[in-house]
Amino acid sequence: MAPCAHSSSSPLLTSKEEEKYADVKWDELEFALVPTDYMYVAKYKQGESFSEGEIVPYGDISISPCAGILNYGQGLFEGLKAYRTEDGRITLFRPEENALRMQIGADRLCMTPPSPDQFVEAVKQTVLANNKWVPPPGKGALYIRPLLIGTGAILGVASAPEYTFLIYTSPVGNYHKASSGLNLKVDDKHRRAHSGGTGGVKSCTNYSPVLKSLVEAKSSGFSDVLFLDAATGKNIEEISTCNIFILKGNIVSTPPTSGTILPGITRKTISELARDIGYQVQERDVSIDELLEAEEVFCTGTAMVLKAVDTVTFDDKNIKYKTGEEALSTKLHLMLTNIQTGVVENNKGWMVDISS
Ligand SMILES: *Cc1c(COP(=O)(O)O)cnc(C)c1O
Repeated sequence: MAPCAHSSSSPLLTSKEEEKYADVKWDELEFALVPTDYMYVAKYKQGESFSEGEIVPYGDISISPCAGILNYGQGLFEGLKAYRTEDGRITLFRPEENALRMQIGADRLCMTPPSPDQFVEAVKQTVLANNKWVPPPGKGALYIRPLLIGTGAILGVASAPEYTFLIYTSPVGNYHKASSGLNLKVDDKHRRAHSGGTGGVKSCTNYSPVLKSLVEAKSSGFSDVLFLDAATGKNIEEISTCNIFILKGNIVSTPPTSGTILPGITRKTISELARDIGYQVQERDVSIDELLEAEEVFCTGTAMVLKAVDTVTFDDKNIKYKTGEEALSTKLHLMLTNIQTGVVENNKGWMVDISS
């Protein structure tokens, strides 16, 4: 159990309300694992289709030392959130988008994915089984982590004979502790992805290679790393776990999803919201020079939602950007969180009510 998981009672909740909540200090939630009661597990065996899947107690799983995921990294993950609304409903944000992204990733890694319907249904079941762990309105969200991993034994490099589709959850608060903007370091040495590689899918193999860069940057006081394209080293791509936008005048620009950056669902959503309020949104190569001359920079991803960038450091240059009340990033953040938490009615079909 994470240290913040226990509290004798929460002064904010009446005793009746307390019964519907797990014993968590909701005001102290971070982006860290707080194990919940249940997880979902389904298996696929070569030549068969995905098993129906079941909700089982959350806990360790047993796999062969020769499993495809352990030896060759054959695995994908997803990330989405469930929210509790003021009127007591539990909702998901665009879960079918995660289901579709898993299909594309599975194809790239030669795995058979669960159908999009099974994916969304499994997410619903997992959240409902853990509904005590969905934070009270405004206190955070239940982060949902689906995995599709090669669990069958395979000695030579090949696709594993068995895959496991597993979903676990954890209540989470803010991804970055500081409430101020991000201080990004441009990494001109390591590359995250290359043309023809797996940068465009949520392959487990994409994340440990960025750790060296991330650890170095964090030890020098930066919040995260911004990677450049491998082909030219002149264009910005994305951060270790989120997408990037720049603002100049009336134009919001973000790098294109041509295989080296992850096609973020938050990225797609924010592009649409920015267009709705009259900004021109361009998906195109964005050079490091343009980044340095932008008025605002911000990042998007499920875990952090939308975060303004305060400074970017590249070589000996340190650029400061507009943040705060008047910034577009603040406006877009509010638009999106109001939709996600149910404060504002959403007419785009983005919120899926799973409590009824
Ligand atoms: C998950 C992820 C994102 C953000 O995608 P969302 O769908 O918005 O959560 C961006 N970049 C990388 C590398 C990621 O892994």
